[in-house]
Amino acid sequence: MQRARIKKANTDSTARAALEQARARRQAAAKAKTLAEDTYRAAAAADKAAQRRSAELLARKADLESRLADAKGGLYELETQRDRYQQWQSAKEAAATAHAAAQAQAAAAQQDATGQAQQVAPQPAPDPGGVLAPTTGVITSTYGARWGTIHYGLDIANDIGTPIVSVMDGQVVSSGPASGFGLWVRVRHPDSTMTVYGHIHESLVSVGEWVVAGEQIATMGSRGQSTGPHLHFEVERNGSKIAPLVWLRGQGAQI
Ligand SMILES: [Zn+2]
Repeated sequence: MQRARIKKANTDSTARAALEQARARRQAAAKAKTLAEDTYRAAAAADKAAQRRSAELLARKADLESRLADAKGGLYELETQRDRYQQWQSAKEAAATAHAAAQAQAAAAQQDATGQAQQVAPQPAPDPGGVLAPTTGVITSTYGARWGTIHYGLDIANDIGTPIVSVMDGQVVSSGPASGFGLWVRVRHPDSTMTVYGHIHESLVSVGEWVVAGEQIATMGSRGQSTGPHLHFEVERNGSKIAPLVWLRGQGAQI
């Protein structure tokens, strides 16, 4: 009886110990699982952040590349403009040299013909700032009030197709359709004066092109708000429209 009791007590304590052990193992396993989950979550977050950063870097790279392409395009445009200007300038210089040579030759020929050293009157130097009339025809309207509004232009009427020339050397800044003007050409001159040629039938120049005084840039037309074939000519100085006929005559144009 005594032995049996002792045996039972031993069995109970062994079972309890085993139970304790199993509980401890379960707790350790649960702890390890939580730790593993935390680690996984941290790694996933880090991975996501890295992906985001990488996407940001890619976007920034694309942006920089597109800006670089833009800058290259702008540079090309500037270089083209410079080349055009240089071409225009050397053509002008060549023309001036040829003109001077022709004058010298003419003077020499005259001396030879008369057989004596005759004093040749100095030729008038070509006027570098000379201003010409923009076209030929009849002046039908000038700068001033007209039909309850201000007419900023000088109107010169003639047939459709009559040549229109640039009144001074300059660079074409507009060539194409324009509201009210139908089709226009605008030229900016070295002294920053802008001349405008409206209602034209056809433009013969493109934006960026350099033209010389007297070079044909368009033909007369009747496009836009126009009552018949004529050139509507405007002049702008420092952003304000000024009286074109007064300006032309003041600059020595024969009109
Ligand atoms: Zn007009």
